[in-house]
Amino acid sequence: MTLFCKQCDSRRLPECFEEGKLTLWLCKKCENFADGEDIIIREQTDEERGEVKRKLEEFQKTNNFPEEKMTRRKGVN
Ligand SMILES: [Zn+2]
Repeated sequence: MTLFCKQCDSRRLPECFEEGKLTLWLCKKCENFADGEDIIIREQTDEERGEVKRKLEEFQKTNNFPEEKMTRRKGVN
């Protein structure tokens, strides 16, 4: 399963290229893309980091996932 990164166990996010022709899975922590069989294709570029950040904000708004399940951050007091 590609949904979770095999390197760090973070959740991967699907990234579509060329109108659904190819979906790569991005690990935000390792900052690389894997294909459908969890084979790492390449590292994420700086340009893509900016783009993904924007998309992620939209994605979270659309899907309304609880933040703590996505990132497992420790509580901030
Ligand atoms: Zn990872």
